[in-house]
Amino acid sequence: MKTAKIPATGQEFTIGKIVCLGRNYAEHARELGNEVPQAPVIFMKPATAVIYDGGTVHIPAYSQACHHEIELALLIGRECRDVAPEQAMEYVAGYGVAIDMTLRDVQDRLKSKGLPWEIAKGFDTSCPLSDFVPASTVADPHDLTLRLSVNGEPRQNGTTADMIHRVPGIVSHISSIFTLEPGDVILTGTPSGVGSVKAGDVMDGEISGVGSLKVFVH
Ligand code: MG
Repeated sequence: MKTAKIPATGQEFTIGKIVCLGRNYAEHARELGNEVPQAPVIFMKPATAVIYDGGTVHIPAYSQACHHEIELALLIGRECRDVAPEQAMEYVAGYGVAIDMTLRDVQDRLKSKGLPWEIAKGFDTSCPLSDFVPASTVADPHDLTLRLSVNGEPRQNGTTADMIHRVPGIVSHISSIFTLEPGDVILTGTPSGVGSVKAGDVMDGEISGVGSLKVFVH
């Protein structure tokens, strides 16, 4: 079982489902040649994909292009179904740092055939995840800097101010499709600057006021 911790409150959750947004930053959608969507693009990773700070991403043998995507993670603290945006923040228990590891070559092949992406997005070790800070300690989740470097070299440097769909709307929309339960995690999309990593690399991710994450690649 994979867990999500909020050390400041001593809370620990068993991670349920991980619901992810694609193309939630316009510049990242453009760098991949994708249209900016009207409705959120949604996919899921299994909880078994999670690794923690200090862990290692194992690139599957079926990919030659494993990309990093740093993302703000939300931790759901209470069950909700079809919650309105105005109430949605009551269900967010914490914020964390996630890296949505993506097998870009595999994803591109599947997308071109109209096939599902799971093997490009949900493989074991594809979801490095930090501990969470209590939601009450983050004044504005849309005023956070996201940074990711590989071997000390800056790759991604963005701000959650550039999100297309904002946190209350994201939680509301997802809860209209899937009942959200305590321990569910939502990944809110990545800014531009994604790129590939290879065995031997070290990734350092950081979100201001939220935390950091160091992950090795094998
Ligand atoms: Mg992503």
